[in-house]
Amino acid sequence: MAWKALTRDQPGAGIGGECSVEMKAIVKAAERPGVALQRVPVPEPGPEEVLIRVKASAICGTDLHIAQWNAWAQHAGIRLPLVMGHEFCGEVAGVGSRVRSLKPGDYVAGETHLPCGECYQCRNGLQHICKDLKLFGIHRDGCFAEYATIPELCAYPVPAAIPPRIAAMLEPLGTSLRAVLEMDVSGGSVVVIGCGPIGLFAVASAKALGASHIIGLDVWEERLGLAQRLGCDITLDPRQSDVVGHILEATGGVGADSIVEASGSAVALEGAFKYLRKGGRCALIGLPSTPVRLNVGVDVVFKEATIIGIHGREMFRTWTRMQQLLTSGLLNVDPVVTHEMPLENCAEGLALLEAGKGGKVILVP
Ligand SMILES: [Zn+2]
Ligand SMILES: [Zn+2]
Repeated sequence: MAWKALTRDQPGAGIGGECSVEMKAIVKAAERPGVALQRVPVPEPGPEEVLIRVKASAICGTDLHIAQWNAWAQHAGIRLPLVMGHEFCGEVAGVGSRVRSLKPGDYVAGETHLPCGECYQCRNGLQHICKDLKLFGIHRDGCFAEYATIPELCAYPVPAAIPPRIAAMLEPLGTSLRAVLEMDVSGGSVVVIGCGPIGLFAVASAKALGASHIIGLDVWEERLGLAQRLGCDITLDPRQSDVVGHILEATGGVGADSIVEASGSAVALEGAFKYLRKGGRCALIGLPSTPVRLNVGVDVVFKEATIIGIHGREMFRTWTRMQQLLTSGLLNVDPVVTHEMPLENCAEGLALLEAGKGGKVILVP
């Protein structure tokens, strides 16, 4: 082996004295709905990679798409079998021969975006939207397992003050924080469309960054309750409320300064431009499954609206800000974690997500 041996919690050795080391993992094994709990070999880190003993991971909507094997998953360039999961934290258990910045025992969280390091974007400070971007847990084995390997670059050191249940969610939290940072929300009104975990993180981030008024939209009552706990002043169920009327009323007839779209609903996004104020900004995180019809003249040009797509965290400016906001106590996302369960119960966690129940589900191997 070209890497330093496992330091602790070494899984059982293979039968008959072989040194094949195995671990439990949640595997997408076949091109049909479902996931499997399997024993698979502990991965070996390449020269520029680290082996991480996973302390906690978090279930994402992307994992649900892969588990369901829906149309998106079928065309995402996934090769099976795949160890699922991409949101996690853990302890470095081994390092490749060229790793310099990390050593066994270091506490890190994973950045999902795996940049090539050579393309135009990578050379111009835009690694997170690398031309040849690969995604951890989608294009290579992920973290719903006892161990995972990841490039040294993508293992972000985490202060011990951030507990594993929170550190496991830094990747999605960073996406929401990035969107809110781009919106420049301080002292202004923000509408968050969709109060699943990404929307809830956006609410908490907007609160931390000093938004004066936060309005959350969702169709699930439980999520609206969580949004209120995280800092929403008003929550609305668009099936039951006149959203445009309420938002115009709450903003003195002006409209919202900023919108964070985290629902992926084309209808919700089309409607958002009715309550975005002139000169307002809109950050898009959700992925609509159908084309969105915008009246560009009225909704964007005459309005001088700014629209920005958010494909994850800036590497690593967003991570730095996030760490500082969390350790200073300005940003609190604890209420977003509504379930913690053993890794083996992953299917149960996916079912909760599918049913729109609760916030974030944490898996502990
Ligand atoms: Zn995710
Ligand atoms: Zn690149």
